[in-house]
Amino acid sequence: MPDTAAGGGRDTLVAAVDWGGTWIRVAAVSAGRVVRKDRRAKPPSLAEQYTTVAGMVLRTTSGLAQAPAAVGVGLAGVVQDGVVGTALNLGFTDGTDVAAALRPHLPLPTYLLNDAQATALGVAARWPHGTTCVLTMGTGIGGAVIRDGSLEPGLGGAGDFGHVVIDAGGPHCPCGGTGCLEALVSGRVLAEAANVLAEQGSSPLLAARARGGRMLHAGDLRDAAEHGDDRAAGVLDRSAAALAAGLRTIVATHDPHHIVLAGAPLAPDTWFGRAVRTHWDRTRPRWARTQLHHVGDDEDAALLGAASYALGRSTGTRPGS
Ligand SMILES: [Zn+2]
Repeated sequence: MPDTAAGGGRDTLVAAVDWGGTWIRVAAVSAGRVVRKDRRAKPPSLAEQYTTVAGMVLRTTSGLAQAPAAVGVGLAGVVQDGVVGTALNLGFTDGTDVAAALRPHLPLPTYLLNDAQATALGVAARWPHGTTCVLTMGTGIGGAVIRDGSLEPGLGGAGDFGHVVIDAGGPHCPCGGTGCLEALVSGRVLAEAANVLAEQGSSPLLAARARGGRMLHAGDLRDAAEHGDDRAAGVLDRSAAALAAGLRTIVATHDPHHIVLAGAPLAPDTWFGRAVRTHWDRTRPRWARTQLHHVGDDEDAALLGAASYALGRSTGTRPGS
């Protein structure tokens, strides 16, 4: 593979991977812009995930003017010293060296970081001063902290807001705790709630959609609420209150200038996004001056951040770390 990293210019081609609990997204990135991208559903087995990621990277970067110099992988899990500390939604064993596991399929320098940290790096330049906290909502809840444009990872998991405790007597969380934000509200939890409402027959719209054995997802719950379904709206409203409580904890611990909400479910024009903001406005600390923002999936922040991280690591400049 030609060493196109020589010189390490910003227009060096880098491959980026956003490895989530439901989707795997891959992009070819140059000069801070996505030049080509692909998205596939995450296969169930870990072996298939490795070959899928490698195949997507090779296909997405083939035929371009230059070969990729490096691969940046943002992964839905805690990453410590380049290895997986834990990735509850992907099935990795703690301590997995993902870069080493990918190497037989993908002979490129590969750099791993947490996916919410990748998202944070992707938007860091928008708020170069002060503290910015990022909270992502997909299959799970993630987060990251940026201070003066640089990532503050702690020992790897700083800002993993999915595991702030909202209800100490609440449901069990795979992290070992109880009542974590992620155990109360996440794409997975909302999907489970949608399927329960459909089974109970208490939501006609959800029951109709589940006919034929289709498994429902969080978007079905949102659709039901937007069509006036009180049960679905009740679930989403309680979840939004939990998420707003999580925002209070972020303010209490970081008092950030900005909180960036990332992910389609948190968009301000959705039923859930509006409910989160309503609860936040009602319950925010009186002194809090933190501003809320939203970053949509179409902005590719996680991919751009993973690419930036890989470029920095491969050239020794380590942006945002
Ligand atoms: Zn937890």
